[in-house]
Amino acid sequence: MKQERPTTHYIWRTRGDDKVRPSHAANNGRVFAWNDPPETGHPGQDYGCRCTAEPFMPSINEHIDIEVADVADSGNAWTSQDFVDHYYNGGGRGVAVRETGYLRNIVAQYMSEVGERMKNHIARIARGHPNRTFSDDFYNTYDMTGIVFSIGDTTIGGRFTGTCVSEFGILTVSGQFEFYLNDEFADPIDIGIELFGDPYPITDEWTRSFSGQVYADPSRSSFG
Ligand SMILES: [Zn+2]
Repeated sequence: MKQERPTTHYIWRTRGDDKVRPSHAANNGRVFAWNDPPETGHPGQDYGCRCTAEPFMPSINEHIDIEVADVADSGNAWTSQDFVDHYYNGGGRGVAVRETGYLRNIVAQYMSEVGERMKNHIARIARGHPNRTFSDDFYNTYDMTGIVFSIGDTTIGGRFTGTCVSEFGILTVSGQFEFYLNDEFADPIDIGIELFGDPYPITDEWTRSFSGQVYADPSRSSFG
């Protein structure tokens, strides 16, 4: 009969009297895994053994931290006219967001909008990959008109890749994000038709690291 076990590990406890056999006394206070018994077997398995298994469930301060770092812009902020000028004179040449001076603020707003969801996303994927590497993709459209009207609704996405070490019901995760932004400037006066300029892509890429610890059991966790 398979016994319901609340934890993956236990602490061996003897009765502490002089009837405890020496091999069990040597196990007293040690942590063992239910799926990897010591040579003595688990507590209570030996004939006449009165030892018990105390569930071992260390508690942690759950957290997933995403690196906080500014991305650097490489130029002064473009005006609306600069975006329009590039449409007429740029020959369709792609522009990096950092070149327009807005990447730092866009990344900051994006991270404040999605940071908590990303932590939950990491926890969900990591739970399916104990002691393995894990990764997943994501993207969505974000309204950045509050920062710069000419970039406006833009697609930001990316991928995270990490490793997950599972021990005692705790997952220790660490890894890296690779983000991208994809936009196109195609409609300078916002009337739904293209004029005589050249639409041009506005793109960029940046990275972030992450690390943290969460409970493997989602019912015990505040992440997922
Ligand atoms: Zn015993």
